[in-house]
Amino acid sequence: MAKKIATKDEREHMSKVASLGCYVCQRPAQVHHIRPIGLGIGMRSSHYDTIPLCQDHHIGQFSIHNCKQQFEAMYGTEKEILHNINKEIKNMEQVNDLFNFYATKEK
Ligand SMILES: [Zn+2]
Ligand SMILES: [Zn+2]
Repeated sequence: MAKKIATKDEREHMSKVASLGCYVCQRPAQVHHIRPIGLGIGMRSSHYDTIPLCQDHHIGQFSIHNCKQQFEAMYGTEKEILHNINKEIKNMEQVNDLFNFYATKEK
């Protein structure tokens, strides 16, 4: 399955997601794409439906890819994690907007 090429906005979003650090342990993170529920084969997951996980929690022995059931039992489902991450990103964007607002006023 060919990967969809991320637009500039999507890349920016994913770098924000990664900058939050691993959802579980706050170590440097890579982005994990949530598999959309209820979509047929061939539907691509969105680059906006991403959560930050370090290598261990992403693809390690005890990770969302290798031990999904245990992982979700301990840390919440992908959807719950995504919800929390999106909330954090929103907060971050609001702070940035405020900062930009005052920064432009200074001139
Ligand atoms: Zn981690
Ligand atoms: Zn992944």
